[in-house]
Amino acid sequence: MAVDVVWFKKDLRTYDHSPLIDAAKSDNTILCLYVLEPERFDLDDVDPIHIEWELNNAIELSKSLEKIGGSLHFEISDIVTTLSKINSNFKIARILSHEETGNSWSYQRDKLVQKWCQKQNISWIEFPTNGVIRTLQDRDLWKRKRDSRMRENLYQPPIISDCIEFQGEIPSMKTLGLKSRRLQNYPEPGQDAALKRLDSFLNEEAKQFQWAISSPTLAVKHGSGLSVYLTAGAISMRRVVQATNARMEYIRKNKAEIKDPTDWLKSLGSFRKRLAWHCHFVQKLEMEDNLDLVAQNPVIDSNLMRVLDEDRFTRWKNGTTGWPFLDACMRQLSSTGWINFRMRAMIMSAASYNLWLPWRATGCHLARQFLDYEPGIHWSQVGMQSGTTGINTIRAYSMTKQGKDQDPTGDYIRKWVPELAMVPTKYIHEPWKMPNELQETISCVIGQHYPEPILDEIESRKEGIKRSYAARSSKESREISKKVLKRHGSRSRPRRKRSNQKKLF
Ligand SMILES: Cc1cc2nc3c(=O)[nH]c(=O)nc-3n(C[C@H](O)[C@H](O)[C@H](O)COP(=O)(O)OP(=O)(O)OC[C@H]3O[C@@H](n4cnc5c(N)ncnc54)[C@H](O)[C@@H]3O)c2cc1C
Repeated sequence: MAVDVVWFKKDLRTYDHSPLIDAAKSDNTILCLYVLEPERFDLDDVDPIHIEWELNNAIELSKSLEKIGGSLHFEISDIVTTLSKINSNFKIARILSHEETGNSWSYQRDKLVQKWCQKQNISWIEFPTNGVIRTLQDRDLWKRKRDSRMRENLYQPPIISDCIEFQGEIPSMKTLGLKSRRLQNYPEPGQDAALKRLDSFLNEEAKQFQWAISSPTLAVKHGSGLSVYLTAGAISMRRVVQATNARMEYIRKNKAEIKDPTDWLKSLGSFRKRLAWHCHFVQKLEMEDNLDLVAQNPVIDSNLMRVLDEDRFTRWKNGTTGWPFLDACMRQLSSTGWINFRMRAMIMSAASYNLWLPWRATGCHLARQFLDYEPGIHWSQVGMQSGTTGINTIRAYSMTKQGKDQDPTGDYIRKWVPELAMVPTKYIHEPWKMPNELQETISCVIGQHYPEPILDEIESRKEGIKRSYAARSSKESREISKKVLKRHGSRSRPRRKRSNQKKLF
């Protein structure tokens, strides 16, 4: 029997799924496959929360496939062994999958699959994912190609008439011997939940998007929350882009009946830009496959000579630095698996400039914390926020300023750092300034109930910025930065800075 294997990876959906459509059109029998590779469990950037999220989405995919006559085979093994087994039971005619732009491990794994396919004379057809364009050498044509990809028609799930039934079931985390931490606000998995989220965001919460997303509390409500679904591939980027365009078109046409149409359009425009950033950053990893291991500008990275100081690293990870707003952010992140963009940037900046910690260690820790871990975005952002690309301005955030801007009453800090619950607003961002008598009265003695600041924030930031500029100044590092810009730099014209633009740093 000739079999088409549809290999599901980070595309756990039946909607807008080109490999599935292609297989359904052919005369071959279909085998839908999802493989969990145990080697991944030991990778530095993988956490049990990622495996659990994938399994939960795979269970939903299995239900969606059943509705259209399909069945999802689950295997726990390495992919080449699995394919060999399938090939000896049935004869594989073709393997169909989406292209994956993942970490260095998945890139090497795909090379092994490629080799195996060549040896067996089996064709492996990979379909493009989102707005990532394979084999590009620079960015000159990227935007045009990406935008045209986003305009292509969406596919409905096909009807599958000839499919090999899976007899087993997808195991639980417990059966796999994995323990995941319980996350608060855990999203509902699967493509139906992703579509519901998109619909609710576009019709209800998005109006405030533009001004709300910098706040760690408001972003929970007015951000799209779609990153976890995009990462698992429970929804395609093209679908999100087209739904956003349709909503914007509707608002433009019905301005008279819609309250605050300008706010809606501004916010949706800003959201749409971020969807393009998603593709832009993943494209970087596509063109530089070891971005998770080597800095874009290795000379700057080596000049920086950052040090993995265990005490600093542990206190940063645990949210016990004594810098209240940063500690609150780290604790929100570890409890929920998510935090907004501005705070991710600030967390990375604190680790890199104030604490002088190396990006690979801090980046791996954050990757394991983010339920929406997407290697292309993540490692590009880690590079930018740690000042190791050489093409981005040095962004060293002032944590106290961010705290005062985003949490003026201090309620966010009080929620996530309960040790500070009784601290009056006047001192909440700098509790070490509280008079001793007050510290005693409210049982929040700095150095006893809550730590002293790990370092002087202003001085450590100043020193970090100074050393970062020095690391960029050599001729060799500037030459590399030019090459990085040519290969990866956005071709959009930079916006002129408005004089009243808010200061971040
Ligand atoms: C150090 C650092 C690490 C990051 N790691 C990840 C990661 O692993 N996975 C991830 O999806 N995002 C990452 N981001 C980007 C951003 O913080 C998240 O995409 C966003 O917070 C997700 O929330 P949301 O879905 O509500 O996004 P929204 O604000 O609603 O935006 C919609 C979508 O646009 C994309 N997007 C938004 N902001 C960015 C951005 N700055 N760069 C690229 N794409 C963006 C995402 O796909 C997001 O789902 C990182 C940012 C930083 C500074």
